Amino acid sequence: MTQLVSQHPGGHPTIDGLTLTRYDDDRLREECGVFGIFDHPDAAAITALGLHALQHRGQEASGIVSYDGRNFHSERRMGLVGDNFSKADVLARLRGRMAIGHNRYSTTGDPLIRNVQPLFCDIDTGGFAVAHNGNLTNALTLRRELISSGAICQSTSDTEVILHLLSRSKKRRVVERFVDAIRQVEGSYALVCLTDDMMIGARDPVGIRPLVLGRLDNSYVLASETCALDMVGAEFIREIENGEVVVITDSGLESHRPFPRRPARPCIFEYIYFSRPDSIVGGQTVYQIRKQMGFELAREAPADVDVIVPIPDSGVPAAIGFSQQSGIPFELGIIRNHYVGRTFIEPEQRIRQLGVKLKHSANASVIRGNRVLLVDDSVVRGTTSKKIVQLIRDAGAVEVHLRISSPPITHPDFYGIDTPRKKDLLAANMTLEEMREFMGADSLAFLSVDGIYRSIGLEARDNRAPQFTDHCFTGDYPTELTDQNGDGVPRQLSLLAEVG
Ligand code: AMP
Repeated sequence: MTQLVSQHPGGHPTIDGLTLTRYDDDRLREECGVFGIFDHPDAAAITALGLHALQHRGQEASGIVSYDGRNFHSERRMGLVGDNFSKADVLARLRGRMAIGHNRYSTTGDPLIRNVQPLFCDIDTGGFAVAHNGNLTNALTLRRELISSGAICQSTSDTEVILHLLSRSKKRRVVERFVDAIRQVEGSYALVCLTDDMMIGARDPVGIRPLVLGRLDNSYVLASETCALDMVGAEFIREIENGEVVVITDSGLESHRPFPRRPARPCIFEYIYFSRPDSIVGGQTVYQIRKQMGFELAREAPADVDVIVPIPDSGVPAAIGFSQQSGIPFELGIIRNHYVGRTFIEPEQRIRQLGVKLKHSANASVIRGNRVLLVDDSVVRGTTSKKIVQLIRDAGAVEVHLRISSPPITHPDFYGIDTPRKKDLLAANMTLEEMREFMGADSLAFLSVDGIYRSIGLEARDNRAPQFTDHCFTGDYPTELTDQNGDGVPRQLSLLAEVG
């Protein structure tokens, strides 16, 4: 789910006297998490627990919609799940045996409650709520068409486009309307929807964003990741397949295949950064794969050092793998303060830099006098690495080397990771040597693209039929990018101009 128009705190760009808000702000955003349960007496409370397990996918806001057989109930709040949905009064208002929920990524500017999901609408087939993880790459184009034909948009989220398309569909049954709607959108989506008698789950034709199916007693559960099933004690059944629509009703589960079959291309970043290490993705535990990335990295780019130190928390599994493969001791040379938000929640570069300092401290006892190898999972702008290399030098390291357990990110993302514009991606603008110098490291190396594939158990990337969505490293986008030009700037920006 992406915000098509957002308030910009540092002053808005203007065109022809109109103040513009920007589609693709140049700051990183988290992904989103979705969850749903059908036919359970504690539907809302279980949804809140599921969202809590998925909190790493988005900390800005969350929401739950339930249905009690007569009415839909919706509670949408800014902030963390635990702060909003652990209270008995809120959960008591979310009556009913079916519920869906959503965690929203962090974003910038004035966060708007109207963009917090699940989004709900009343159409002539009844109420319909939707929770979306992903990003539609033709939402601006569709929105322009919808607005010019009279649609009144309530939010600035791309997800709302799906509701408009659903409402306008000429099909009779709600599932047919839903399929009609998703056939018109491009990009990535894992959707969990609720009507008065069904829960629907859907994944885009190549399955970029994850969605799993589970069972708790006699109830079906849908969730972004298996860690949410574990949290609520649900048994994992299977992943929803790419291009699959599952419809869960009192009669059970029906699976539909409304798209021509295509090979799946799930997002490789789920393995690298997004998914929780204990989640199982594509049949493999994310933690083991991250460790394997460290193994591969140690083979591809060994280093003559005294200690391996992870940049916590995201670098920990790969650093363990690197240490086990190289035989060099693993030490917790950086202590992370868990009581500050993720770096990317901070809106301004100035504050973000401060945020890195707030977040990480050097454990000088294992650093001083040593040649240190730092391991992190990825470099986006290079802010984290630069700060931490300095932190480790200041703590008395005699050498500081850096190893990254994924390839250089050279291309922007439009499918929900929302890595910034190409101009802000360090590896899109610098050579390896320039990056090393910028970070102030004694050596720098990234895992190769084939190294990532090997870590996932494949021999190498199949360049004719890539097995993953890996455009961040390769520029190979698996869908149309109708709204974007090469630098992530939407072409229809002026249509969404807002008078300042
Ligand atoms: P940067 O400081 O901009 O180079 O960002 C790199 C750090 O951000 C690494 O420690 C990653 O674990 C983390 N990271 C990578 N991708 C994302 C993302 N899309 N959202 C938030 N954090 C990320």
